[in-house]
Amino acid sequence: MRRLVLAGAPALLELGLRRLSRAVGLARLVRSVAFVLALAGAALAPRAAEAKLRVVTTLPDLFALTRAVAGDVGAVDLIARFGQNPHDMEVRPSHMLLVRRADVLVRNGLEEDAWIDVIVRGAANPRLLRGSPNVVEASQGIRVLKVPAGHVDRSLGDVHPLGSPHYTLDPDNAVIVTGNIAAGLARVAPEHARAFEANRAAFLDRLADAQRRWQAVLAPFRGARIVSYHDSWPYFYSAFGLVEGGVIEDRPGIPPSPQHVAALIRQMRDAGVTVILQESWYPRDTAKLIAQETGATLLVVPQSPGAVKGTEDYISHLEYLVGAIADALK
Ligand SMILES: [Zn+2]
Repeated sequence: MRRLVLAGAPALLELGLRRLSRAVGLARLVRSVAFVLALAGAALAPRAAEAKLRVVTTLPDLFALTRAVAGDVGAVDLIARFGQNPHDMEVRPSHMLLVRRADVLVRNGLEEDAWIDVIVRGAANPRLLRGSPNVVEASQGIRVLKVPAGHVDRSLGDVHPLGSPHYTLDPDNAVIVTGNIAAGLARVAPEHARAFEANRAAFLDRLADAQRRWQAVLAPFRGARIVSYHDSWPYFYSAFGLVEGGVIEDRPGIPPSPQHVAALIRQMRDAGVTVILQESWYPRDTAKLIAQETGATLLVVPQSPGAVKGTEDYISHLEYLVGAIADALK
C-alpha cells in the first residue's frame, strides 16, 4: 500500500500528476500533441471577423453556469464529458486543442480538476496557467465543507484533499460561482461586462424562483438521513435541511472495507435510513447489497448536469435531483 504524507499545494499537484501519469504515458502524449498543434497552428489562429470570446470549462456544472453568464458573447467548451467521473480523468490531445485556443479557463479548484494543469502545460497556453487573470477560480469565496483537519495524508482518501469540491450542489453557491465567472469574463472582455452582468442577473432570477420551488418540494423531508456512495452531497444536504446518514466510500475515492459496510448497515437500521444515493459513475454492487440488507431505496443519480437527457443546464439538473430525491424519500 502506497502511503505518502503531503504538505501544501505543490505536493497536491504532484499527487494529481502521479494519478494522471498512471492513466497516460504523459511525456509521449505531450510530444505527440505538440506535433499535432504545430500542424494545426495556422488553422487555429482566430480570424478577427469571428473573434468570439472562447471559454473552456473543466466540469459540466461549471460549463452550465458559464454558458448562463456568457450567453451569446462567448463560445463555451467543456473538457470532461457529461456523466464522467471528475476524479478519474484521462488527458487527451483533443483537450489540449480546446485549451490551446481558449481565452478564458473556468476551473473548479480544491484539486477536483488539478488535471487541467497538465492540459494547460501541454497546450502551451501560458495565459491559462494558475494565477493568470484569464483563469476563473470558481471556488473563490465558497465556504468549503469537510476541510480535513491537520495535514493531508493519503490514508484520508484519494480525492478531496482540500475539503469537499462538490460545492455547486448548493444553489446558493451558484450565486457566488456565477459572480466569479462574470468578473473573470469581464477581465478579459471588458467591453461585454454589462452583458455578462445582465445574463447573470436573469439567471439568478430564474434560480431564485426555482429555489423556492425546491425548498417547498423537500420541506416535508427536513432532517431525513441519506446515505450515499461517494461523499458528493454535503452542500446539497445543507442547502435543503437533509442529514448525512453515512457514506459507503468511507474515504473518498477508495472502495469501502467490509468492516465499514457492516457498520454502516447497522447504523442505517438504527437510524432508519431509507434512501441510498448512488452516483451514476461509480460501481453499484455495494450499494445494492446495502439496500437489500436495510430495505432502503437505491436511487441512482448523476452528480452533475448533462448525464441525463434534458439536464444540461444547471437549473434543470437541480430540478431533476430534487424531484428524484423527494420521490425516493416519500
Ligand atoms: Zn468527490
